[in-house]
Amino acid sequence: VVTGIGDDAAVLRIPSGHDVLVTTDFTIENVHFRREWQRPRVVGWRCLARGLSDIAAMGGEPQAAFLSLALASDVSQRWVDEFLKGLLELAKKHKVPLAGGDTAQSASGIQADIVVVGSVPTGKAVLRSGAKPGESIYVTGELGGSAMGLARLREGLPLGAELSRHFRPEPRLEVGRWLRQRGIPSGMIDLSDGLSTDLEHICEESHVGAELEMDAIPRARAGRGKGRYVGMDYALHGGDDYELLFTSRRPVPSKVAGVAVTRIGRITASAGMRLIDADGKVNRLEAHGWEHFRNLGSL
Ligand SMILES: [Mg+2]
Repeated sequence: VVTGIGDDAAVLRIPSGHDVLVTTDFTIENVHFRREWQRPRVVGWRCLARGLSDIAAMGGEPQAAFLSLALASDVSQRWVDEFLKGLLELAKKHKVPLAGGDTAQSASGIQADIVVVGSVPTGKAVLRSGAKPGESIYVTGELGGSAMGLARLREGLPLGAELSRHFRPEPRLEVGRWLRQRGIPSGMIDLSDGLSTDLEHICEESHVGAELEMDAIPRARAGRGKGRYVGMDYALHGGDDYELLFTSRRPVPSKVAGVAVTRIGRITASAGMRLIDADGKVNRLEAHGWEHFRNLGSL
């Protein structure tokens, strides 16, 4: 960032030999969060996490963030301050300057739009379109924690420490970069809509199919004791995990930058997605995206 906030436009200088990455994501009240359910700090953190996660999925390096915020008159200054605190906390962690933005009054509710600009060595961005038959499918971290947390909030139940953690997702920037530098991923995407939906995006863009082994899918911890892990539906279809999904034919370590990496299946030449259960039974896997899963409107 050569010139940030304070002029008519920000001036960015992208290092030579690099392509520019640009991603934009909405965070909308009653669609992505509820004021009475999530603390403003968490909403701010997640707002930026969405953008950083997209940069991670390209194997890139974030350079600057831009925030446009529309607020109804009933939104308190305290809410805005806390929202920014959460956003800037994550920005600082990844050394991403907030280089500009805009605020306006909205007719109702809160709408935030985050733009993240990043860079990647020329021609090296990892796309969704590179997966090939025979390659393995990998996922970072654990899945389903965020969706199950939301389900608990909807039922008025406490989250507990295990699930609260998932409300402050860590964008996998270091993992994405590490993998890209070694030429490991042929295709990559971040899990924002849910495993089944995002895997389908890879399949469509790469013109391939996929087979997942149900037993291999790493599920988030929901608590202690019997119901220790989230249900399989949350892991398969729940959104907002912000983990990375990638394909590769190369050997992949079980941990990258301190984050677990798990092989969960393989890419096939035949189209469509299949789920193999513990007994080896093969079932069709349908993409039930986040939109479907959270039943939009009632959140
Ligand atoms: Mg994405």
